[in-house]
Amino acid sequence: MRILGILLALTVPLLAPTAPAAARAAADRPAVVGHRVIRHSVQGRRIVAWHLGEPGRPGAPRVVLIAGMHGNEGAPGGILRSLRDGPQIQGADLWVVPAYNPDGLAANTRRNAHGVDLNRNYPYHWTNLDGSYESGPRPASEPETRAMLRFLRKVRPRYILSFHQPLNGVDTDTKDQAFARRVARHLHLPRKTFSCGGVCHGTMTGWYNHRFRGAALTVEYDAHPSRTRMRRTAPRQVLDIFGAWRGRAGVDLVPGSQPQR
Ligand SMILES: [Zn+2]
Repeated sequence: MRILGILLALTVPLLAPTAPAAARAAADRPAVVGHRVIRHSVQGRRIVAWHLGEPGRPGAPRVVLIAGMHGNEGAPGGILRSLRDGPQIQGADLWVVPAYNPDGLAANTRRNAHGVDLNRNYPYHWTNLDGSYESGPRPASEPETRAMLRFLRKVRPRYILSFHQPLNGVDTDTKDQAFARRVARHLHLPRKTFSCGGVCHGTMTGWYNHRFRGAALTVEYDAHPSRTRMRRTAPRQVLDIFGAWRGRAGVDLVPGSQPQR
């Protein structure tokens, strides 16, 4: 019953806005088709996944974009907020989580409010690490980790991009190397190998790549990407990776035409 309850909780939107509120939200954010509070952080902040694009479109790839996993790497969150707050998106079934570690972002710290590096807390090749890579008392000990495990198991994206700073590059020595090269080319970032000094322990991408068919990839910008790059250039480049674009639905593209029923 408990598992059934969890599944139901995931299926039913956790926030069911009233009709006027929903209409207002749709007018303010035409790209957003839904959202889900996937859990709360250690300090009780909401972790929100925003659903964008065309979920029902045949052939549209399902994609999850995550930023702010490390709270002192805040700039790429601007890419995801720009996608959320901009025009309608076509051609992809897209989820964005702009502030995955909201307590760390509020405090401008890498780790969460328990002092744990979320990207060492995942249940794949987990090991006991200390210092800035503190991996927690056990795998998936943190509410933020369990939130993302549950969300990704449910959504099962074909592609995940996890945005970080400041290493300036895309890891092309990874599960789907053609995809990684495509990401590097579109984002104008160099191809690199992020080996974590040997084995990457307890990372989100490592866990997802091991457990699911889809490909999860780390993208690193430099320490100070420009606001224009984050808010204007990169959002368009990210959509290009997946063959998606900003614009209104096809029925609106022919001036003066009546919607077909
Ligand atoms: Zn990072």
